[in-house]
Amino acid sequence: MKAVVKAKPEPGAELKDVDVPTPGPGEVLIRVAATSICGTDLHIYEWNDWAKSRIRIPQIMGHELAGYVEELGPEVHSLSPGDYVSAETHIYCGRCFLCHTGKAHICRNLAILGVDRDGAFAEYIVVPERVIWKNDPALPPAVASIQEPFGNAVHAVKRAGVAGKRVLIFGDGTIGLMSCAVAKALGADAVWLVGLVDRRLELARALGADRTINAGREDPVGLVRRWTGGLGAEAVLEMAGAEAAFRQALEAVQPGGRLIAFGLPPGEVPLDIPKLVFKEVEIIGVVGREIFSTWEEAARLLARIDLSPVVTHELPLAEFRRGFEVLFRREAIKVILCPGG
Ligand SMILES: [Zn+2]
Ligand SMILES: [Zn+2]
Repeated sequence: MKAVVKAKPEPGAELKDVDVPTPGPGEVLIRVAATSICGTDLHIYEWNDWAKSRIRIPQIMGHELAGYVEELGPEVHSLSPGDYVSAETHIYCGRCFLCHTGKAHICRNLAILGVDRDGAFAEYIVVPERVIWKNDPALPPAVASIQEPFGNAVHAVKRAGVAGKRVLIFGDGTIGLMSCAVAKALGADAVWLVGLVDRRLELARALGADRTINAGREDPVGLVRRWTGGLGAEAVLEMAGAEAAFRQALEAVQPGGRLIAFGLPPGEVPLDIPKLVFKEVEIIGVVGREIFSTWEEAARLLARIDLSPVVTHELPLAEFRRGFEVLFRREAIKVILCPGG
């Protein structure tokens, strides 16, 4: 089968012919219909320090997918060939304290699809049955493949507790944009998004943001204070992964408000602890999706939210390089690769 493989310890990746994998006990073979490129894949592609320390080469890239069950391994009972599925990418052990207490998404023994084992940029992928999600047949494969990042947005917005609140989101990437739609659907009083690219800010408004701020030429903290009589936003989600955004988020959050830390800044960010204390700000780190409660909530929200504007490119798998290029140039939002051509 064809697969996009991280084969060498250098930037880039290669389209290779590799053997179709065989599902072991408790695993299934999926024929991939659509797989989307995530920020994590960009790090692996460009071969940054994190990728160098984490990825064992050669490995097939990719983790966001939708496809059809092709073959069952031994001891698989809940699936049949032909089932239309996606996958939770956090492969939990099911045996540790965190798994036992409903926090499988931060399992002690977590393995991530396309990071710690072969991924989805291929015609076929093997995935454990326990992380398979059965899709609504009405969802097109491109949209079904982005349920994983959509679940990030749902989990983060749920943790922010947005109903009736004024919500400020930093970051005009895929998850920041989708979070606008989720916050609106979950009853936020107002949703404001801070970004840097006008085209993306337009998309944020199309997805439900009431107002957008271009941080390149406007002052997010000043504007939000003006819109809230000096108080700030009750819920702030930092999804830009930039130190400047995190500082502004801490300034723009209302006293007693909640700040969701989701973006990953490249290094440590110094925190003004006295400010945190006197403002009684609650900072909550959010990663992944709750398994599977976030997926259940996401499925209901997808009946009301149209994610198709987020999908800007659909390419055959062989044209993966073009997909990475448009993402690095920030011309694309979500790029979908279709192994079926
Ligand atoms: Zn992802
Ligand atoms: Zn575990």
